[in-house]
Amino acid sequence: AAAEGKERKTGGLFPVERVRKSHLGEVDFSNLGFGKIFADHMLVADFADGSWQPAHIVPYGEFSVSPANSALHYGQSIFEGIKAYRDEDGAPLLFRPEKNYERFLKSAERLAMPPVPEDIFLSGMEQLISLDRAWIPEAEGCSLYIRPFMFATDAFLGVRPSGSYRFMIINSPAGAYYNKPVKLVVQEKYVRAFPGGTGFAKSAGNYAGSLMPALEVQRQGYDQILWIDGIQHKYLQECGTMNFFVIIGDTAVTADLDEGTILDGVTRDTVIALMHEQGLKVEERPLSIDEVLEAYRQGTLREVFGTGTAAGISYVAEMTYREHHLQFRPEAWTIAPALLQRLGDVHFGKNDPHGWCRRI
Ligand code: PMP
Repeated sequence: AAAEGKERKTGGLFPVERVRKSHLGEVDFSNLGFGKIFADHMLVADFADGSWQPAHIVPYGEFSVSPANSALHYGQSIFEGIKAYRDEDGAPLLFRPEKNYERFLKSAERLAMPPVPEDIFLSGMEQLISLDRAWIPEAEGCSLYIRPFMFATDAFLGVRPSGSYRFMIINSPAGAYYNKPVKLVVQEKYVRAFPGGTGFAKSAGNYAGSLMPALEVQRQGYDQILWIDGIQHKYLQECGTMNFFVIIGDTAVTADLDEGTILDGVTRDTVIALMHEQGLKVEERPLSIDEVLEAYRQGTLREVFGTGTAAGISYVAEMTYREHHLQFRPEAWTIAPALLQRLGDVHFGKNDPHGWCRRI
């Protein structure tokens, strides 16, 4: 129930202007979908004249920007995605938000944007989630999706880094993710990221450039693109908006992060640690399509999956490359299902020796 009207201490750092009336009661929690319903409050912090103004928490709502807003024209815009759950006692749980914070700082640096202070990003997030804790869905598989983001706010058409920025956090209750095995296709015509580019950053432009290729392959009956490098047209990068893993024999292989063409996924990092925990060998190195095809031919390609915040682990049912069609039977797998189970437990703070789960 909403704590509306009642004064509740959030113990937070930042001033709060509460909604006059919560709209929690109007939300159909049995039909949430993704990304279209927003919690009562949002966090806002502005950067101007070389420094961050204190953040404040205000009712979720629209605001106006100049038609000359430089983020609209030149794309200085970055974001993060984190899920919050509730434990048995109803306390909010955040999973490794400091990893998202680190990644946000890297994205900001690459896009010539100022670093957001840790107290605004992490403590501000905790204060906001604590205030809107009633918005964390309770049903199995549901979560509160947390979206921190930053964009340029100069009203100026010259091409140069903006002098002013806005950082915000909004929250959206999300329904259970329907985790259906996916069909991937390598589409060599399109490239997501080059060495020296922005592939490792969670910047808006990376997603804009991926939309048309994704539509094209969806029209052909596939779910997602398996991105391949644009120089040798040989090395596999990521699939859709997930990191890509194969298990060949007794070893898991995923692309390394060295070239800066791959997003440093929080789930990727977590799954690698869980694999080590289970005694599986893991190699982070260039993974070529030829190696995958050869392992398939030899019968040593055991499991193929993507990792990301949305699905956790998403099994690959089919993979197409030129005239090659690879088919898999995820229902017969053992490694990825065990990892998915373990990942689910650790999200809820069960068996969490790494201290990944943050209880608010
Ligand atoms: N790659 C891309 C391009 C993504 O957008 C995402 C989703 N953030 C991922 C990988 C997975 O990252 P994470 O595990 O942090 O969600």
